[in-house]
Amino acid sequence: MSVPVPTGLAPGAVLGILGGGQLARMLALAAADLGIRCHVFAPEPDSPAFDVAARHTVAEYEDEAALARFADGVDVVTYEFENVPAATAAFLGQRAPLHPGARALAVTQDRLSEKSFVDGLGLAVAPFRAVDSLADLEAAVAALGRPSILKTRRFGYDGKGQIKIAPGTDLADAYEAIGRFPAILEGYVPFEREVSVVAARGLDGAFAAFDVCENEHRDHILAFTRIPANLGRGAAATAIDAARRIGEALGYVGVFAVEMFVLGDGAAERVVVNEIAPRVHNSGHWTSEGAETSQFHQHVRAVCGFPLGSPGSRGRIEMENLIGEAALRWREILGEPGAHLHLYGKRDARPGRKMGHVTRVWTDRS
Ligand code: AMP
Repeated sequence: MSVPVPTGLAPGAVLGILGGGQLARMLALAAADLGIRCHVFAPEPDSPAFDVAARHTVAEYEDEAALARFADGVDVVTYEFENVPAATAAFLGQRAPLHPGARALAVTQDRLSEKSFVDGLGLAVAPFRAVDSLADLEAAVAALGRPSILKTRRFGYDGKGQIKIAPGTDLADAYEAIGRFPAILEGYVPFEREVSVVAARGLDGAFAAFDVCENEHRDHILAFTRIPANLGRGAAATAIDAARRIGEALGYVGVFAVEMFVLGDGAAERVVVNEIAPRVHNSGHWTSEGAETSQFHQHVRAVCGFPLGSPGSRGRIEMENLIGEAALRWREILGEPGAHLHLYGKRDARPGRKMGHVTRVWTDRS
């Protein structure tokens, strides 16, 4: 595969970020450390990233006049979410370097193309079938059995747009419940644990993976990430190699995450790829204090064509998400020795809303 020519940016350059949530906010903070100024483009006037960016634009992703002005004023464009409309990515990609590129978006926006892509690389995925009608669903459940999981092909996150097909589930009701959208049915993976690999690929093809981390979800939302993951060396090496192959096959530039299931124990332990996120990821937030380079600095380095930083871990680490009213504990957390508090500047602590996170690092000396 040919390697794209480095853009040769230098400190002082302007990075455009699509999306203005907490990921864009933390990217902009990291960019500032490297002397890079950010222009954040998002439709919501109260976007958390606006507080920390040199410039921002409030406009819809379909607003071509606003997109053109944005692209003309930046040296490179990146994004904090995978649902960037394809037409927006194509429009921007003609005016400025776009990293990660349109192929990464196209593959990962659709669960069917994503699963087919990962399967095509010879990596383990859950068995899956395309579902475009109730008849497809019936045939798929006959093939994959129950329990299985019906997921919309697009716009699913944090457990949204999916439903478990249990022994008693009525298939017509289930198809109705996901809005009769194009979907896939996945065989149920009886996993022991969930892990992810957060990794970066540079403009020159260099690859750097952070340590495999273990993720604990509550109510379908990430609650804790822990390093080291409870995973044997062999399975950890397989997991990192899977990420390397995914990054290479996508010609990827930037940070990405590969979420995986862990099955079995000891010599029988193995990993199954669940999902790819073409962006910095919540399960990589621990790197801000827990790794030699944070995922946010790493992403900025990669998309600007700078050398990647060392991904080494600094000890045993825990990241706790502050969801909804958990963020009201900020004063108590600030009083906790060694706790690093990150708040996203969101006003309403609605249930299920990611308001901030805490990282705790235990080095050999602590
Ligand atoms: P996803 O939206 O694909 O990340 O799925 C959200 C969560 O649902 C995962 O973190 C798992 O806990 C669970 N899940 C998703 N797919 C499967 C599967 N095929 N088998 C078992 N559990 C699954």
